[in-house]
Amino acid sequence: LLVLGIETSCDETAAAVIKNGTEIVSNVVASQIESHKRFGGVVPELASRHHVEQITIVIEEAMQQADAAFKDLDAIAVTEGPGLVGALLVGVNAAKALSFAHQIPLVGVHHIAGHIYANRIGHEMKFPLLALVVSGGHTELVLMKGHAEFEVIGETRDDAAGEAYDKVARTLNLPYPGGPQIDRLAHEGKPNVDLPRSWLEGTYDFSFSGLKSAVINTLHNAAQRGESIRPEDMAASFQQSVIDVLVGKTVEAVKAFGVKEVLVAGGVAANKGLRAALSEAFRDLPEVALRIPPIQLCTDNAAMIAACGTVLFEKGKRSSLDLNAYPGLDIENF
Ligand code: ATP
Ligand code: MG
Ligand code: FE
Repeated sequence: LLVLGIETSCDETAAAVIKNGTEIVSNVVASQIESHKRFGGVVPELASRHHVEQITIVIEEAMQQADAAFKDLDAIAVTEGPGLVGALLVGVNAAKALSFAHQIPLVGVHHIAGHIYANRIGHEMKFPLLALVVSGGHTELVLMKGHAEFEVIGETRDDAAGEAYDKVARTLNLPYPGGPQIDRLAHEGKPNVDLPRSWLEGTYDFSFSGLKSAVINTLHNAAQRGESIRPEDMAASFQQSVIDVLVGKTVEAVKAFGVKEVLVAGGVAANKGLRAALSEAFRDLPEVALRIPPIQLCTDNAAMIAACGTVLFEKGKRSSLDLNAYPGLDIENF
């Protein structure tokens, strides 16, 4: 079963070919980070234009690297949402054109479901499982009792984890995207700045905007007093606060729901500190398998979209040529 995946929800133009939902045949990602860097974040209109320029090249390259022809494909999977509408539309329209021209079934995929399915590449999933989704726009705990069944048991009430990383990085004058920069700095610093942790007890929800404000206020107050805080120490302290809450809540939910596996998904899953802290925490829970994708499958890519699309295709999902882009698509009903 050969599936072409297409992803254009944000600032990566990506295409990949996946065999049987679990094996990467090709995986091409054209990142726009350099273009958005000087603006300190993703500029939607710029993203759409780059996708238009790149999409054909990226798809051709993925097909070429896979040594596949369109007639070999069983389905085309494309991110239909959530994301930037103008960016999503480029991928959706490319997928619809190819589906129509070559008479290949089309399957719309939820971007975050894709992030979760990055974990099925190379590993079969064992249900029930819990997915910790930590990306640029989402932070949630998702319970799965079977393939493509998603139940959100907790989510952020304000900023996503990745968003908090990017905003704190900007405060520390680090370039976009800030996550990897803070990760790097954190390893050179000590978590000796006192910062809050938002537990929101009795829920599996998260909140990171208070932490972000605390970083800004602490830096501001120190400057007023003529003191300075080493950016390395602030990065380490911020990262420790984020990790404590993410790991603490995940362990709590794992125990409450008696899951067999924990999957980590989204760009922040690339974080070295988080990966180490989760490994450490789950050493005490040997009956639960912890899975974290390799770094290149944590951030946006199309292999994860094809992996999820394969499962949806096998479950009978077909999207029509009326498929649209859905910026606010819900993972529980798509
Ligand atoms: P979403 O998936 O919610 O639609 P997105 O696609 O923009 O949002 P991803 O591509 O999954 O998000 O992840 C990008 C985010 O991951 C950015 O916020 C980035 O700073 C963060 N990130 C990437 N690497 C790291 C890292 N090593 N440590 C912390 N954060 C990281
Ligand atoms: Mg991105
Ligand atoms: Fe993403």
